[in-house]
Amino acid sequence: MRWIEQMNGRLPISRPVCYADLPWQMRKTGIFFLAVCILFAAAASTLAAQDQPAASSRFVVVLDAAHGGDDPGGNFGSQPEKSWNLALSVRLRSLLMARGFAVVTTREADTTVDSDRRAEIANHAEAQACLSLHAATNNTGSSPAIHIFISSLAPAATTRLAPWKTAQAAWIERSLALAGMLNSALAHAGMTVTLGRTGLPGIDSMTCPAVAVEVAPGKPADTSGPPESGDYDIQTRVAEALAAALVEWRSDKGTQKQ
Ligand SMILES: [Zn+2]
Repeated sequence: MRWIEQMNGRLPISRPVCYADLPWQMRKTGIFFLAVCILFAAAASTLAAQDQPAASSRFVVVLDAAHGGDDPGGNFGSQPEKSWNLALSVRLRSLLMARGFAVVTTREADTTVDSDRRAEIANHAEAQACLSLHAATNNTGSSPAIHIFISSLAPAATTRLAPWKTAQAAWIERSLALAGMLNSALAHAGMTVTLGRTGLPGIDSMTCPAVAVEVAPGKPADTSGPPESGDYDIQTRVAEALAAALVEWRSDKGTQKQ
């Protein structure tokens, strides 16, 4: 958008060459063609507006299924954490898309994606929320526990060229606000939520409101079971609660630009 504005600023002011000097008959023809062009342009822009929301109205969420490929993540029953994270990302993506979000994912399969690449994808998306999805087994309760982590970087003012490793510093306050929104929506859905701050490779380089969400499904989780097992019921519950939280975020502070 900025590029277009700059280009517009540089464009010379011009008008149709020699139009004023044309004979009336030709001018009449010109007026007719001009009217037809305007009608076509109006119809085309209406169609385009119907097909595709304006870029500014798109609310983009980045889902980062942590680990993958060579990196299995933590022990998570009989399946690696990376698989659970990806399954949650897929579920959450469909819930969000059904609610009109634009969703960008850092991986769609069991592939190795390093933390810098994850941040590159997130930053390119210019998202209003970035969620890095993890899972853990450190919950013996009967209800899912959610640990939300925010980068431990000290808040810093926005600069044009932020250092890559600490780019998130300019977004800490927005990330804290996102964490607060997730906290209340998840607690409202009956889940235990804890908040913490830590160094987060990947998120520390992201230029969006960003949190790591670690889901500890709790005692009923049967991580060895098929998709219809209790494990996946919990995953659906978590995905629905996260989607509800992001709907809230979109309708509130998430729409405010950094
Ligand atoms: Zn993890």
